[in-house]
Amino acid sequence: MYITTTIPYVNARPHLGHALELVQADVLARHHRRRGEPVRFQTGSDDNSLKNVLAAEAAGVPVRELVDRNAAAFEGLRGPLDLSFDSFIRTSAHPGHRAGVERIWEATGHDLYQRHYEGLYCVGCEQFYPEGPCPDGHDAPLQRVSEQNWFFRLSRYQDALSELVRSGRLRIEPVARRNEVLAFIEAGLDDISVSRSAARARGWGIPVPGDPDQVVYVWWDALANYVTALQGDDYDRWWVSERRKVHLMGKGVIRFHAVYWPAMLLSAGEPLPTGIFVHDYLTVNGRKISKSSGDAADPVALVDAYGVDAVRWWLLREVPRVGDTDFTEERLVARADEDLANGLGNLVNRVVTMVHRFLDGHVPPAGEELAEVPVDEALAAFDFRRAAVAVWALVEEANRYVERTRPWRQPRAGQEAALGTLVHACRTLAVQLEPFLPTAAARVAAAVAGERLPRPEPLFRRLATTGVAG
Ligand SMILES: [Zn+2]
Repeated sequence: MYITTTIPYVNARPHLGHALELVQADVLARHHRRRGEPVRFQTGSDDNSLKNVLAAEAAGVPVRELVDRNAAAFEGLRGPLDLSFDSFIRTSAHPGHRAGVERIWEATGHDLYQRHYEGLYCVGCEQFYPEGPCPDGHDAPLQRVSEQNWFFRLSRYQDALSELVRSGRLRIEPVARRNEVLAFIEAGLDDISVSRSAARARGWGIPVPGDPDQVVYVWWDALANYVTALQGDDYDRWWVSERRKVHLMGKGVIRFHAVYWPAMLLSAGEPLPTGIFVHDYLTVNGRKISKSSGDAADPVALVDAYGVDAVRWWLLREVPRVGDTDFTEERLVARADEDLANGLGNLVNRVVTMVHRFLDGHVPPAGEELAEVPVDEALAAFDFRRAAVAVWALVEEANRYVERTRPWRQPRAGQEAALGTLVHACRTLAVQLEPFLPTAAARVAAAVAGERLPRPEPLFRRLATTGVAG
């Protein structure tokens, strides 16, 4: 399975919304690897965005310096968030990206033409609109742009795109997003501008092959990363031969991924992705995430304060498949203390303590299975919350089992049977939890490892007393 996240522009440091998409992709990657399937999980940074240029101008630093610094912060999420991506592509630094963009450009040459263009451009969205203000809420006034650009014959692909989505060959989830894409396609597709003047781009970006006064539209450049990052044999393995190629993204960029990108690939004679999963947005303390959100939206600051398990668990257990979700530190703490410290931590601690008290630490033979854990089905539908709830059903069932069987009131044979079942449940949990909470899963696995268990130790600290702000 080839799993990608979008590559964010790097005009600032990463925020919690980026962490959401990365953690979702990480769960998919770990889950499929655990089942023995080959997986490539790819992320990266969109270095060539005009927004990066403007941010560097505002900060008074060279673009290269700003882009290098912020891209490093994105790549650096790997450690704090326990991410397992296999590759991180930077569009201004990857050795094959520029050549790959040029190759796709040339392969679509039969659909490219020049046209004089006038339109209103939102730098925030890096896209044109017929009128202002920006429908996505960017404050800066739209710029009137008048120039000669390269256009792509998107209109030619309307029927092919419609058929692609209707047939499910390109699966779009959730279904409301699929319907939104179909409505957009079937309302009629106009050709799109796919270059801009090099002057307006301040010379940043990839020059149009054969027309150095123009640079390739940054969306075209960025979308190409899903293919250009795959060099040599990797291209055949992951783009040509792989049956499942899934792009994860936020709702704001669906049109680029579900319409423009497949059309580019069709035009270039390239294989297509097979799946698109669209997540909604996070707000922080009731507000859209922005620079003023500060540490409350900084995933690294949150991990420093509360630990990676609490942050990942909030993202996976609290964010529904459909609908925006508001993050507060109080909710993160409440969820972690209830589920991790009280639910899972207590369970493992009680079980290990009883095995030591009644059985001198010796693990009895595995007993019955307590519950099915239907994670596969939930993750196949990209429903991370349902998958997290499914794993948690086993924690809850095991805690109920302790209350029901009361091993401390049983004769030795009953204690062995009950604790055999419970140790087995804890071991199952360690395996099932690994995609969601790799660090916590490793601690659970260590706590119930071997024929004679180590002494019990608390697995999670209670968080209710800590905080980012102070
Ligand atoms: Zn905008």
